[in-house]
Amino acid sequence: MKEIKVFSPASVSNISCGFDVLGFAMEGLGDIISLKKIDKKGVFIKNISGFNIPLDVKKNTATVALLAFLEKLDYSYGFEISIEKNIKPGSGLGSSAASAAGSVYAANMILGEPFTLNQLVEFAMQGELISSESAPADNIASSLFGGIVLVDNFTKYKVINLPIPQDIFAVIHHPLISVSTSESRNQLPNKVLLKNASDQLTNIASFVHSLHTNNIDLMKLSLNDHLVQNQREDLFPYFKKIKNISNEMGSLCCSISGSGPSIFSLVSGYKLAEKIKLDIDKGFIKMGVKFNSYLSTFGSQGARVLQF
Ligand code: ADP
Repeated sequence: MKEIKVFSPASVSNISCGFDVLGFAMEGLGDIISLKKIDKKGVFIKNISGFNIPLDVKKNTATVALLAFLEKLDYSYGFEISIEKNIKPGSGLGSSAASAAGSVYAANMILGEPFTLNQLVEFAMQGELISSESAPADNIASSLFGGIVLVDNFTKYKVINLPIPQDIFAVIHHPLISVSTSESRNQLPNKVLLKNASDQLTNIASFVHSLHTNNIDLMKLSLNDHLVQNQREDLFPYFKKIKNISNEMGSLCCSISGSGPSIFSLVSGYKLAEKIKLDIDKGFIKMGVKFNSYLSTFGSQGARVLQF
């Protein structure tokens, strides 16, 4: 096989109580990566369409990830890549991660899968770190593995796929303003109170338990952040209003995706999710903020082949 086209999904990271360690793949929105194996050694960008991203192979997360992938192989060939950039950079929906994940996934498929998905996370992270020096692996892991992931950022990015609960949906709103991950991360505290750390531990443990037992009440109780949300809320003036709408309508949580500005609500039942999406749409319209909105399963499929 010489050529392949893959879809790599956008993702929501943190999931309220899992700062830097939890994420899930979104349905519908994603980058499309076309990769061709060529005789010339190296990595080359053939075409980029959609949103603007760097054309320099040393600055694009997709090509940096591909170079890290190739470095682990004894190779005499190269790759030519085209990216259909559908996820707006700086959206908080894992834009940079989706490209990096999709490119190494495509290369692995072309070469007959020499690497495991876990190894691909390591290569894709080399790309992700170009976009933000302190980027965790939750978006990359979500795009590659799909579903709901728990990732260990310190031990070679070990990834665990968590059970997907029944009938839970994600309502996602992307206000069309840009926020850089690096800038947003700079706002975060270097230290946290022991009590907050302890509360966060309880929440993440309860959340994981709620997924294993499909316990929606426990899920709702545990979907709270004690580490970063307060600082983040102040960065996004519309957030509190939207959170009120979401909470009043009966969502399980409403929180900031990644470094923002996107926000997401988790909702039990499709009909309620549709209603909440519409009401939040109206909230944004009322505030005069342009946005895109999505209704997704909570934990969709990861990177996948569209065409050989
Ligand atoms: P997001 O959370 O949406 O991924 P980031 O702020 O983390 O946004 O990343 C966006 C930054 O990464 C921008 O500066 C963008 O130019 C850079 N970047 C480099 N390559 C890519 C790529 N292939 N896709 C998206 N962003 C990229």
